[in-house]
Amino acid sequence: FSWWSSVQPAPRDPILGVTSAYLADTHPDKVNVGVGAYRNDQGKPVVLECVREAERRIGGQELMEYLPMGGSAKYCELSVGLAYGEDAQVLKDKKVASVQALSGTGAVRLFADFIKRFRPESEAYLPMPTWSNHHNIFRDANVNQHTYRYYLASTRGLDFEGLKEDLKKAPNNSVILLHACAHNPTGVDPTPEQWKALSKLFKEKEHFPLFDMAYQGFASGDTQRDNQAIRIFLEDGHQLACAQSFAKSMGLYGQRIGCLSVVCDDAAQATVVKSQLEYIARPMYSSPPVHGSLLVATILSDSDLKTLWFKEVKDMADRIIGMRTALRKNLEDLGSKQNWEHITNQIGMFCYSGLTPEQVDRMTQEFHIYMTKNGRISMAGVTSGNVKYLANAIHEVTK
Ligand code: PMP
Repeated sequence: FSWWSSVQPAPRDPILGVTSAYLADTHPDKVNVGVGAYRNDQGKPVVLECVREAERRIGGQELMEYLPMGGSAKYCELSVGLAYGEDAQVLKDKKVASVQALSGTGAVRLFADFIKRFRPESEAYLPMPTWSNHHNIFRDANVNQHTYRYYLASTRGLDFEGLKEDLKKAPNNSVILLHACAHNPTGVDPTPEQWKALSKLFKEKEHFPLFDMAYQGFASGDTQRDNQAIRIFLEDGHQLACAQSFAKSMGLYGQRIGCLSVVCDDAAQATVVKSQLEYIARPMYSSPPVHGSLLVATILSDSDLKTLWFKEVKDMADRIIGMRTALRKNLEDLGSKQNWEHITNQIGMFCYSGLTPEQVDRMTQEFHIYMTKNGRISMAGVTSGNVKYLANAIHEVTK
């Protein structure tokens, strides 16, 4: 008798599997442009100076106690202020229920569980393509999921007509997942005018917008520009939810620090909704970890540290934008006949290169360059030192 004989190996994660393969390769020129984690121009992980200073300030404090089930209220308030804009009317009216979550993943999962419990008839619509883990999250929360058209391969840009058509066809009161900025994996975002049109469409269809905001500040370098979609929807009076993560924007990946916020009818409803979010969290993990929320709250509540963070997040965004320019230029200088404009048009951490799975295989086998099968290149892994090598490999496999 064996308890676990029926257990089969789980499918490999399409993103995390790339890193394992990279680590196993001993070639000196190997490059990892798979996982979305920021690297400096020397290819090294970065701890932001604002985070170091926040650590110095909180060091030695009595910070081992449990947080409440919903996490640090101060952290949540600061976090939501950043996402919605500090002057947002819904915040003044105390209409927003917010809880600390286990980074962006945990925030989306908590909301999916909330949907299942309180709007079980609602189905979720995810962009095609989207971050692969979104599909796992809604599957495991037992929320029916569909996709809507988002990316048009022929233009390597937004399929705005297809997107609108699919959201019109979706049943009223669907939950629509939107990437607030720096869409992963495509790097393609709607323009402000397109967001406004979408907001109108959501009104007509009474769809619920769930904003996944994993890259605020990372896209443009300006946190208040990267939240424009949310501000547009709030101005139109939508109820919305927002899943925030500080993994990328503050480089707090492993601290698992995020926030789920839900806009309600009024303050009383916000209190009720928050209590139910806590009630979902309690049997899963009881309460979230303390360190990340202290770091973020320390940075966001101090004007010097906040200014330093704004500068550092802009530096990261600018380095990535610079690498986009360099990659495109190198390809053009090599005489590539392909159009590489999308490399500089796309925004955020990723370049959706258009490489086919076969070309990606060649990138890895012949050049030891590791990336996901869908042709996504993490621009954060590109440096002055490897951009030429990368461009040459792309040129060779796309000739
Ligand atoms: N949403 C999107 C679109 C992402 O790209 C990511 C990070 N890869 C996340 C959510 C969540 O990441 P984390 O749980 O590390 O905050």
